Parts: sequence; structure tokens; C-alpha cells
Amino acid sequence: MSQRNIHTQSVAGQAVQELFCRALHHVTATHKDLLQKGGTAVAGLSAQGRPGDPVTPAIVPSSVYFLPGDPAGPYQYARWTNPTWSALEEALSILEDAEAVIFPSGMAAEAAILCSLPKPGDRILLPSDAYYTTRVLADTYLVPAGIRVLTCPSANYDSQDFAGLRMVWIESPSNPGLDICDIRKAVAKARQAGAIVVVDNTTPTPLGQRPLDLGADVVVSSDTKAINGHSDVVFGHVASRQAALIAGVRDWRKLCGAIPGPFESWLVHRGLETLEVRFERMCSNAEALAPRLAEHRKVQQVKFPGLPSHPAHAVAKSQMLRFAMILGVTFSDKNSAEQFINGCKFIRPTTSFGGVHTSGERRARWGDKVPEGFVRLSVGCEPLEQLWKEMKAALDSL
Ligand code: PLP
Repeated sequence: MSQRNIHTQSVAGQAVQELFCRALHHVTATHKDLLQKGGTAVAGLSAQGRPGDPVTPAIVPSSVYFLPGDPAGPYQYARWTNPTWSALEEALSILEDAEAVIFPSGMAAEAAILCSLPKPGDRILLPSDAYYTTRVLADTYLVPAGIRVLTCPSANYDSQDFAGLRMVWIESPSNPGLDICDIRKAVAKARQAGAIVVVDNTTPTPLGQRPLDLGADVVVSSDTKAINGHSDVVFGHVASRQAALIAGVRDWRKLCGAIPGPFESWLVHRGLETLEVRFERMCSNAEALAPRLAEHRKVQQVKFPGLPSHPAHAVAKSQMLRFAMILGVTFSDKNSAEQFINGCKFIRPTTSFGGVHTSGERRARWGDKVPEGFVRLSVGCEPLEQLWKEMKAALDSL
């Protein structure tokens, strides 16, 4: 079995590992407050905690907080702030190296940007091949509000004219076609045009791609996917290094009331703690499986940014720390694709990705512009050889 080493780890990768460790060991706002107020006077207080303190954040379901007299303090009403949110936002902010604001879904995070930043008369650019609900949201609410929505395939952003744009939206790799947009180049063009750059970084996560380090203004993420990783929460976040922009996002959440539940926030905090180990396994599995699948006679094509055969492999290598967990596997027809998905006992037939279980679906069933036999395969955390054995058996039986 030929196995190419297509893993890219760099110095930047090590810096991200450092951020992950800090996110894992972050101290909560309450603890920081104690350190500031009490210092060494608080019995047993250390930089890590006090004897008897819980290691995990508390789930605080309270909708109200003690608030006598004039309003003061960080927690006044639970649509505005919540200690369980704070714990997750701190961890995400460390990992993103930017201020993060959490939302009850990836779409709520997207809406916070799309519905609050562009104004009537503005022109924005969306990828024509990326997550389709983003375009539906824009067509349904932005176009009637007088915002002009242009679209362009992710692979063609280099040749697209950005003049007159207010916002450039990028999703790279695009979902489900896995095309790549050169983020650095897009940022340079957007700067000239005076447009802000938003990157949906759901698929690669902050461990696999750092759009803010590449110059983007905002990152949005569906944490329903790899960040939570256990297929048991719908969640999202926005991150930016621009204080005014992120303050506006917080105001949007406070005023619209699109707020996450404390329990869901706690689950995502727990999921985040194992992101590094899950992501490492998923990416390594995907990198090992891509060439094996590509060599199988029943597979027509494998699209994966980590494969040298990907048309933008060089760009992917220059801007991604890891190539993430999604493979686009094309079969000759719909039936073969369905048989592969349903015939492999270690593939869950679901419509999401980034979870611990390997999952797959034919995206044409939702109307995405991909061949009928195209399967979006999200490679999970199973031990590689067991997973491959079952995949190969399913392929051999086609
Ligand atoms: N962005 C991408 C790339 C997605 O794939 C999805 C959902 O599949 C979303 C955003 C929306 O996220 P959510 O389903 O958490 O609202």
C-alpha cells in the first residue's frame, strides 16, 4: 500500500499547540477575579485554583443574578452574560488568539455578521459553492433589504473583481466541493477595495487554519462540527481582533436574543478540551485514507486539499496547518455511492461532519452542484486500519 506523507507541521503549528494548551488550562473569570481581588490573601489561592475548586466550569442555568441597587458587575441578566458562556468564550478566545463570541448555532453566528454589518446599498461577495444556507440567508433577508449579493466559485476568487465590495465572504476549503481560495491574496485585494474579509473556518478549525493570521477580519464557525465533535450540540462562534466589530457582535446577540444554552455551552467547552487529539486523529486518518481510496478501482476521484492531485494543493499547503477531515469521493453513479455509504459499518449516514464517528452522505441529495455519485466523507476518530478494512470491504463488494 503506497502511503504518501502529506502531513504539514510547521513552527506556526507549534505555536497553535501552545495556544491549545493554554486554552485547555485557562482559568475562569471568577478565578481571575478572585486573584485580582484577594491575591495571596485568599486562602490557598494559586494561579491554577483553590483547594476544593472544581476543575470544570459550572453549568449556571440562572436567568437572573443578585443585583441590588444600581446595576453593577459582569452578570446582571442572562440574555446578556452567563458564567458558563464566559468559560467557553475564554477558551475559544485563547485558541483563536482573538475575542470570541458564542452563538446557539453556526447559522446564528453567520447571521450576526451578515445581518448586522452590510447596509442597504452595499455589495457583498459570497462563494457560490460553499455552504448553501449562507446564500439562502443572504437571498432571503439581505437582498430584500437592498444589499447586492454577488457570488463566485471559491476557486475563482483570484480573478474576481473586488472593486466596490463592502464584504468578502470566504469558505476554504469550500463545502462540499473542497475547493480552495487563496486567503492571503483575497485579503490583499479586499484591503484595496476597502472590504472586510470574513472566513467560515468550520472545516479546518483554528488548529488547521488561522484566517486571522492570514489577514482576515472575522472568523465564523459552526462548532456543531469538529469543535464540539460529538454530534450532540448545535453551536457556533464569531472571532475577531477588532474590538469595535466584536462589540457590535455582542450587542447583536444581546438585542436579538440568539443566545446559547448554558448546558450546550458546557458541552462545547468539554468537546473543545479534546479537539487537539480528535483533530490530529481525524486529519491523519483522512491523509492516510485519501490515497488508498483514490487507488481503488471502484472510486473515480478523490478530492482532498492534502493530495498533490488537488488543483490548489500548493495554496492549501501554504495556508493550512492540517488539511482537515473531509474527503470528496466520487463514484460512477448514485447507487454505488449509496451502497458504499450504507455498506460500510463504520460510516454513519448523516448530514454533518467533523464528529468522532466517520460519516458520509451524497450531497447531490440536497441539490448541491456535485455529481450524483459524489460522497462527502467525514473521516472520524476510529483506529485507521479497522476503518480502512471496513471501507475496503464495502468498496470491494460494489
Ligand atoms: N458553515 C458550514 C461550513 C457548515 O457546514 C454549516 C452547517 O453544516 C454551517 C456553517 C451552519 O452551522 P449550523 O448547522 O451549526 O448552524
